[in-house]
Amino acid sequence: MKMNAGRPSALDELVQTFSDDESAAVREWLGGAADAPQLPGISLRSNHEPLVEMLPRPAVDDQKAIRRVAVVGGGTAGYLTAIALRTKRPWLEVSLIESPSIPIIGVGEATVPGIVIFLHHYLGIDVEDFYRQVRPTWKQGIRFEWGPRPDGFMAPFDWDSNSIGTAGAVDAGGGIDGYTLQSLLMSAERAPVFDVGDRHLSLMKYLPFAYHLDNARFVSYLADIAKQRGVQHVEAKIEDVALSGDDWVDHLHTTDGRKLSYDFYVDCSGFRSMLLGKAFRTPFHSYASSLFTDSAVTGNVGHGGNLKPYTSAITMNSGWCWDIPTPQDDHLGYVYSSNAISDDQAAAELAARFPGVSEPRFVRFRVGRHEKAWRGNVMAIGNSYAFVEPLESTGILMITSSVQALVASLPGSWADPQCRDMVNVGLANRWDALRWFLSIHYRFNTRRDTPFWREVRANTDISGAQPMLDMYATGAPLRYRNPLLRTFVQGNAPTFYGLAGVETILLGQQVPTRLLHRAEPPARWQARRNAADAFVRRALPQLEALSRFHDDPALNQQLLFDADSWASPLRAEPIGML
Ligand SMILES: Cc1cc2nc3c(=O)[nH]c(=O)nc-3n(C[C@H](O)[C@H](O)[C@H](O)COP(=O)(O)OP(=O)(O)OC[C@H]3O[C@@H](n4cnc5c(N)ncnc54)[C@H](O)[C@@H]3O)c2cc1C
Repeated sequence: MKMNAGRPSALDELVQTFSDDESAAVREWLGGAADAPQLPGISLRSNHEPLVEMLPRPAVDDQKAIRRVAVVGGGTAGYLTAIALRTKRPWLEVSLIESPSIPIIGVGEATVPGIVIFLHHYLGIDVEDFYRQVRPTWKQGIRFEWGPRPDGFMAPFDWDSNSIGTAGAVDAGGGIDGYTLQSLLMSAERAPVFDVGDRHLSLMKYLPFAYHLDNARFVSYLADIAKQRGVQHVEAKIEDVALSGDDWVDHLHTTDGRKLSYDFYVDCSGFRSMLLGKAFRTPFHSYASSLFTDSAVTGNVGHGGNLKPYTSAITMNSGWCWDIPTPQDDHLGYVYSSNAISDDQAAAELAARFPGVSEPRFVRFRVGRHEKAWRGNVMAIGNSYAFVEPLESTGILMITSSVQALVASLPGSWADPQCRDMVNVGLANRWDALRWFLSIHYRFNTRRDTPFWREVRANTDISGAQPMLDMYATGAPLRYRNPLLRTFVQGNAPTFYGLAGVETILLGQQVPTRLLHRAEPPARWQARRNAADAFVRRALPQLEALSRFHDDPALNQQLLFDADSWASPLRAEPIGML
């Protein structure tokens, strides 16, 4: 295409006919510098008006004001909600009610990269303090022992980059490993941190990563932050919920005879779902026809100092097992169907696969969501509203989405207009998309031939993903297909994981497709791969890389504040995380 380089644009020609004052006014409006050769015509359609969304603060004499909020539950959901409400709406009185006799669920340790932005930008949690107290490790993605290939496949968080090449990787070795720099780093068990002379250099700001968190440490740290931010802690067991209408909580009765009353209630009571589920009897939509598991047996095993930079998802006879590295040991959890095996059998299989694993602890869960998250003066966040199952670490991701939605949409007063139906539809759609996303992990996993996997392959309901699967069969990667078709199929893909996340799982499991034509000689792919290997050879193992971050606080500052970082305020702002 021939560009009109050098010739004045129609806009410039026109403005040259204006008076000096008019021309200066146009330059100021469109942002053209006085000595710039051309006016930026594109600015005629830019937004030039600064608009700020103010969170509604009620007037002092408003009789219907929402001032006092109760968060029922002191797990991950409860503390993240309470901290966010106090941080973003400091005029609210926030009380967190938790029962010392009902323990938190104690799982929920693998995350996705949004957590870094959420904790350090949205909640403003100091990164150095966080590393000292919580001792997170890094997750660069998930290593799936899944699908037909003996080595399984990597699902790195730079999956949407195709930086080396998916089709080239498949042609070169049959699988997708080696299609991005991060997948190579994961295979080599390295992190993108380097020793160069006496300096430490980090490329972590270019390759998104998430945290692995020890749940007990994380929740107790959040409890300290909540106290510092003025959240009132109420130790009480809720015995009964007094309603004044179908959708309205009037007050809570505690087992020690107290009557607690607030303007708004956030139900973070975990699977008990004390308010939304028990008191309101909100209908529950089960996902059990797509996701067959309902139990987990957990334990820890030593890792001998080999801190893997990813979560592992390992196919087992009647489900799968997570392996989450923490500084002390690996945290394991075998997720299974109680219809397929007993608890004892699951514990025995876990012990056989991981000799030396600690005493088993059992967790029950149910998959699905309530019809609505928010009814009247109650919103449920965390397991009290919905849960899929632990594959792909969606729990904390969805807690952060719900928290953001609540903070942005809670009215200042019951007299104000409200948008809770839109919040309900938005959150329900996100959960449903996760259900379909996880269902394809099960339906296409050909790794083991056991009764559980035969049943799952035959009967998993994947109907909600079918249109996307049909399009995948006609050509992949989906995200490089015709832009219009791509927008059609994007509506099917789950938030955060997107098309790239979906097709990593499909290609990794070798679900048949026609790969897009490679418009380059194969040697070009190999040259990129060789170049990427030069980084991998020099990258440090995670334990050493973490210690460089510990020694050199500038590395975390670069990650969180450099303009070209995936975790910078510039990235946080458009997604509402500042
Ligand atoms: C097996 C399994 C593995 C998981 N793994 C992950 C993962 O790797 N990553 C991830 O992001 N998510 C994961 N999740 C989801 C994870 O559980 C949640 O993200 C997270 O722990 C939130 O839990 P919660 O705060 O909703 O509930 P809980 O931790 O169960 O907290 C409930 C709170 O409510 C209080 N409570 C309950 N009833 C009452 C009452 N009557 N009166 C007063 N207080 C009450 C309790 O005292 C407690 O404080 C996993 C879930 C399961 C089941």
